[in-house]
Amino acid sequence: MAQYPHLLAPLNLGFTVLKNRVLMGSMHTGLEETKDWHRVAEFYAERARGNVALIVTGGMAPSKEGGVFPGAAGLFTKQDIADHQIVTGRVHQAGGKIAMQILHAGRYAYSPECVSASPVKSPISPFPPKELDEEGIEKQIQDFVIATERARDAGYDGVEIMGSEGYFLNQFLVTHTNKREDRWGGSYENRMRLPVEVVRRCREAVGPEFIIIYRLSMIDLIPNGSTHDEVVQLAKAVEQAGATIINTGIGWHEARIPTIATSVPRRAFTWVTKKLMGQVGIPVITSNRINMPEVAEAVLAEGCANMVSMARPLLADPEFVTKAIAGQAKRIAPCIGCNQACLDHTFGGKLTSCLVNPRACHETEIAITPADTPKSIAVVGAGPAGLATALAAAQRGHKVTLFDRAENIGGQLNIAKQIPGKEEFWGLVDWYETMVAASSISLKLGTNVIADDLINFDEVVIATGVIPRDPGIPGQERPEVLSYLDVLRDKKSVGKKVAVIGAGGIGFDVSEFLAHPNSSLTEDLSQWMVEWGVGDPATTPGGLAEKGPQPHPPARDVILLQRKAQALGKGLGKTTGWIHRAALKMKNVQMMGGVNYEKIDDNGLHISFGEAHENPQAIAVDNVVICAGQTANRSLAKTLAERGFIAHVIGGADLAAELDAKRAIDQGTRLAIKL
Ligand code: FAD
Ligand code: NAP
Ligand code: SF4
Repeated sequence: MAQYPHLLAPLNLGFTVLKNRVLMGSMHTGLEETKDWHRVAEFYAERARGNVALIVTGGMAPSKEGGVFPGAAGLFTKQDIADHQIVTGRVHQAGGKIAMQILHAGRYAYSPECVSASPVKSPISPFPPKELDEEGIEKQIQDFVIATERARDAGYDGVEIMGSEGYFLNQFLVTHTNKREDRWGGSYENRMRLPVEVVRRCREAVGPEFIIIYRLSMIDLIPNGSTHDEVVQLAKAVEQAGATIINTGIGWHEARIPTIATSVPRRAFTWVTKKLMGQVGIPVITSNRINMPEVAEAVLAEGCANMVSMARPLLADPEFVTKAIAGQAKRIAPCIGCNQACLDHTFGGKLTSCLVNPRACHETEIAITPADTPKSIAVVGAGPAGLATALAAAQRGHKVTLFDRAENIGGQLNIAKQIPGKEEFWGLVDWYETMVAASSISLKLGTNVIADDLINFDEVVIATGVIPRDPGIPGQERPEVLSYLDVLRDKKSVGKKVAVIGAGGIGFDVSEFLAHPNSSLTEDLSQWMVEWGVGDPATTPGGLAEKGPQPHPPARDVILLQRKAQALGKGLGKTTGWIHRAALKMKNVQMMGGVNYEKIDDNGLHISFGEAHENPQAIAVDNVVICAGQTANRSLAKTLAERGFIAHVIGGADLAAELDAKRAIDQGTRLAIKL
């Protein structure tokens, strides 16, 4: 408490008290659609046991046409209400409070039945919405009211009415999507009529002692978005209509400015919420890239909000608040903002989880319980795969020895953290260090393990990672040809003009590293805003800077190449690939696909195109950096197998293709629960 007085202070809402200032923001996990209500309940109950003051569920559709996709979950039948009672009951039993988010997607609904203020198709959906008539609008309001009443019947402590991120209610607010000339369009009074009416009617239906959160878009980040004055006007009207709390939404889904990815500076948008403070009498919540208690505490202490919303950080560590209360912030598994197992899964139609915590949304499946027979276990390799195994196995009571030939733990995470915009990886490695030090693991660094070292253990886990692939290009032995390890790990100097061979995750990262000046924009909010064109909604509607993005000049001329004849970066993360591509574009990185690498000589890198090796040319560069993928480092596993010793092989050592830290950690954790 002494450490985080603002964060851990209760919040009195009059008819009920929240035990601290942490709201778990709404996330679509896909759990509700599994219909395994025990599993859904356990996911939320684990966060309630972790002392989150108020949980907001994933968005529930108020109607078929308002669902994010056909078949999206909602409270439509008596059975639905009974199912949700399992969730609310379990959360209450755990001492928590839970509100249900009502999410009407409007034109973002992936369905030909979608509806909106006007028939303006969204750039991120193939379906033009139907324009609602007066009767249609009344039905939507009714649907919100019914959903609110059913949420109360299902035992929820409240609802969150989703009015931001470019969803239905937001679509009525701005002229970008509302072209109406009736009482629901035109003047701002008319455009805000629908959200205000929804709040008013929902309040009327459930009486005063039920939490109604209104999620309000504080900065739309789209053309013709709301001005700050309009935001304030709406907030006041929503308060008047009966909202208990105002939560913050940042940016529409179609905005071309990143808002939550790891390269976005921490707490990048709390200044926007701060502008609303003092304008309304009800509590205001701020959000986005708040991932550690000290960040949340600073945000509250500086008066940016009355409460903070964290969503992904509570996937990464359900005990976030409990650890903050205990003064053990260093033990909080950090959300690194990667989106790899949460949003990328959601948008890929997969169940949500978390890169650093594979138990997220799998609480009933991955249980770390004491081992029946404690064993002596050797884990070779302290990259993410080995670390995940070692920690979970030690937690189960096994006697674990963790080896690495390097002088520090983390494996390739130590290379990833060198990339501008990936600073959060430092925190992940620090967290592993803290957790290993606090465990019973015997850590042997600087130890290159050979097969003989392993024969006395009950179980052996090989997590020796990968080695860079040899692309076999004539001339690659020349001194100006470097590998990504030379550049990122060994910090070899690189000239002003560079060709990067291979456009996978590492090729993109190396290009960012080379194109960016020494300082990282992620560490400098004002410069990051200039680079991406974020302005103040008080001076420019929607918060788009008048001059647009103003990228800082690149540090080098970078040419990024691949052999595949397709757009570069197609295999990058579903929700972050566009950011990497846009970031390199802003640094004038030239992208070339469909190339053959012929040779490297005094004239530079010789390439040609297509199967017929057409259009040969030499690219004059100071350096060539090879990022041509990786192969499994199985030499130790192979020697053991040849000697008839059965070892568990995980992470990159198991399979290098499409390897990432998510798979490495998941595989390591799942192995540990079976040992
Ligand atoms: P590694 O991390 O390679 O660890 C293997 C460990 O084994 C090493 O520490 C090594 O020293 C040790 N070792 C090997 N042989 C021996 C031996 N004989 N004795 C003792 N120790 C030994 N992944 C993501 O998910 N997201 C990202 O954003 C991301 N960005 C990346 C950026 C870069 C620049 C790089 C290089 C990688 C990135 N990755 C990312 C990939 C991710 O880091 C790897 O997939 C992951 O680290 C693989 O884990 P691992 O444990 O299998 O192997
Ligand atoms: P990768 O994604 O497999 O990319 C390898 C690149 O090398 C491809 O562009 C490939 O393209 C090229 N290549 C393959 N064989 C080649 C050869 N013989 N000669 C020349 N080029 C060749 O691997 P990576 O970039 O090394 O990344 C390793 C892993 O780390 C990836 O699986 C990735 O998931 C992970 N990672 C993730 C992130 C992230 O942000 N999520 C970031 C970095 C790394 P062509 O075959 O078309 O030439
Ligand atoms: Fe955070 Fe990445 Fe986990 Fe998502 S997958 S919660 S962004 S660490």
